[in-house]
Amino acid sequence: MTSNSDDSSNAGAQSVIYLDHHATTPCDQRVVAEMLPWLTENFANPHSDSHSMGRIAGDGLLAAVQEIATTLNGPAENLLITSGATESINLAMRGVMTHPRNRRKKMVVASTEHPAVLDVAADLTRDAIETVWVGTDQCGLIDLDALAGAVDEQTGLVNVMLANNETGTIAPIAEVARITHDAGALLHCDATQAMGPLAVDAKAMDIDLVSASAHKFYGPKGIGFLLAGNGNRRVRLRPQIIGGGQQRGLRSGTMNPAGVVAMASALTLATQEREDETARLLKLRDRFWNLLSSAIEGLQINGPRLELNQHELSSGDQAGQPHLFRLAGNLNFRSPRVEGETWMAATPGVAFSSGSACSSADPTPSHVLLAIGLSESESRRSVRFGLGRFTTEADIDEAARQLIASHHRLSQIGD
Ligand SMILES: *Cc1c(COP(=O)(O)O)cnc(C)c1O
Repeated sequence: MTSNSDDSSNAGAQSVIYLDHHATTPCDQRVVAEMLPWLTENFANPHSDSHSMGRIAGDGLLAAVQEIATTLNGPAENLLITSGATESINLAMRGVMTHPRNRRKKMVVASTEHPAVLDVAADLTRDAIETVWVGTDQCGLIDLDALAGAVDEQTGLVNVMLANNETGTIAPIAEVARITHDAGALLHCDATQAMGPLAVDAKAMDIDLVSASAHKFYGPKGIGFLLAGNGNRRVRLRPQIIGGGQQRGLRSGTMNPAGVVAMASALTLATQEREDETARLLKLRDRFWNLLSSAIEGLQINGPRLELNQHELSSGDQAGQPHLFRLAGNLNFRSPRVEGETWMAATPGVAFSSGSACSSADPTPSHVLLAIGLSESESRRSVRFGLGRFTTEADIDEAARQLIASHHRLSQIGD
């Protein structure tokens, strides 16, 4: 039985077990139910406050924006709605660095960032913005000494993702924030993978700018947000999309009440269910890894060791909670002999990814795996699995069975 076998809207995918939740997640049916009336009944332009229909749409939109801001513990007036994380990242990086009042012309970027961040950093060199790269250890944790050395009074923005989309590594964000603010710079976190699985308190964690996409936390595609300012210090953005003046002129265009209501609903569900879901995913992931690694000799984990997550914190606010070094649904490892692309092609019943996950058309090895110290060959032999909300134990057992069979077959061909 597959995860979606009782879901008629996913009929075409019934035979494939979906273990690629870092790429995207299905929209939760409860989110769809919340969203529908805002497409059909309350469809008026939310900016048309001259009539009651417009005001109903506008009020619904505002309530949803407030719900998201409350979850993030940030001021609602600083929450910008975008088309998704890529746009949010562009607005955060370009918006801060090219603002006419910004005098700091240097950015610091972690080497394991998503291409959305890497490409904007590269493009900003045309605006005379210099980028300093900071590496990580072999778990993918940013080198804090190197970071402290790189951030100075010329640095306008530090970009460190909260959780990595390939290795699931969770950043030591409190230390990153302290180093950033000690030098008077702002911190931007690509929180696309963290939003949902982790509690993100922008004020307590002191993250100035937070980027995310709803479709990574069981909401619809094409909607996301940028929190630009957590209330602790001022963030000035130069708008990237103009014309109409919506969202205080920082992001023009008619807003999408259905999308924002759905995103708020998805975030609230993920928050309410986080604790149980994290425990469930940790158990499933361990089961999956144990099945695979006991049947296939020589598999090696990429990124943080899985058993680190079982260590409970003994003190502090979160005493007794398992301390996460890695997203609970993430598994990334390498085979001693089979290439990821080959393994994927030989296992059509399981959806997973290899190499550079977000650009599977691109055969070059993952920059993240190279950055954490793997060779090109090791990177090509690596695969990534993302377990999610609707993944069952039966899915895991069946996926493992198919993966083990195809790996054995491919190993024999290789001999
Ligand atoms: C998916 C992802 C993005 C891009 O999100 P879009 O919805 O495609 O804009 C950016 N960063 C990370 C870490 C991601 O996982």
